[in-house]
Amino acid sequence: MKNRLEKKYGQFFIDFVNSDTTENAILSFLINLQQQFSFSDDFCNLVKNLYPSINGIASLLGQSDQTLLDLILKKNGIINRLNDRFKVINYAVESYNPFSENISLISLEWNRGNNGGLPSDDQQDGHDSDGGFLETLKLLGLSIVDGPVLIKLDAVKNEIEALLGQQAAECLDQLAAIGCRIADSTADVDKSRYEELNLLAVEHREVVEFHSQIEGIQIDCKQILEMVIEGQPYDQIPNFDRYLELFNNVGSHRVKINGGNQLTSVSLFEEHRYLAIKEVDAWLQEILNAMAFCLIEYLRSDKSRNYLKKCATCRQYFIARQPRTQKFCRKACRLNSV
Ligand SMILES: [Zn+2]
Repeated sequence: MKNRLEKKYGQFFIDFVNSDTTENAILSFLINLQQQFSFSDDFCNLVKNLYPSINGIASLLGQSDQTLLDLILKKNGIINRLNDRFKVINYAVESYNPFSENISLISLEWNRGNNGGLPSDDQQDGHDSDGGFLETLKLLGLSIVDGPVLIKLDAVKNEIEALLGQQAAECLDQLAAIGCRIADSTADVDKSRYEELNLLAVEHREVVEFHSQIEGIQIDCKQILEMVIEGQPYDQIPNFDRYLELFNNVGSHRVKINGGNQLTSVSLFEEHRYLAIKEVDAWLQEILNAMAFCLIEYLRSDKSRNYLKKCATCRQYFIARQPRTQKFCRKACRLNSV
């Protein structure tokens, strides 16, 4: 690929998507900032205590707990994505229990702290396990529904797909798959460990929530890459318009007055900005902006689309040197192909 700048943007985006954990995705983001945008050598060192890291929590845990916590984060990330869909019908997924395979649904109009919203007598425990959701579906658009309701994920999948679309159904599949992995990985240990880690995730909610959002960005961006490689039109790719809008809002049209009384362009990637971020939400916004910027800048040249590939062996995305013939990201993958 000839255009070096373009390739930089593409690599930035792809490295983030290819990362196996959210922590590594953020690290790839920081390392790429430093290496691709000429930040000081010290940048990674300076920033390592500033970004919302999950390592501080994970360092308290053993290896198997870390794996489990990672799965719990993935589960929470999928629930966040589902809730983006559910809010359309004024509902939210409160939680998913991987052992009973129940999801807990709650009306957004139901307020726990409000006396007027207390569950009725026959639902004193706050749960209704007998197909309440089917009833509430009928009531959609009507007033406050007592909640939350517990319902088997399998039992409502078709209804949810019909009501909220295929994307929501895909999220349910992902949720079920992660649930299976959680159930498998806890098969040999005390189930209460799962509950403890789930609580740990709640205790560090802000950081955990941030990582769940990062997971969401990875999933969205992976789908975008996948569909771009398939040759789908941009307007058919879920979330593409969202990233385009983000790009248009951050843009590269910002200008500042420099020391020599000149107006110079401001790069989106400026070292001091990242070192000054204080809020978790601001980190999320910076990462989203950078991903949107890199994606759109990369795709702006029609040709670059052809250079995007998925390795036939390791299934990672890469930018090919020879787009017509190259099927593998590196020699080892070519030699190990079947
Ligand atoms: Zn490979």
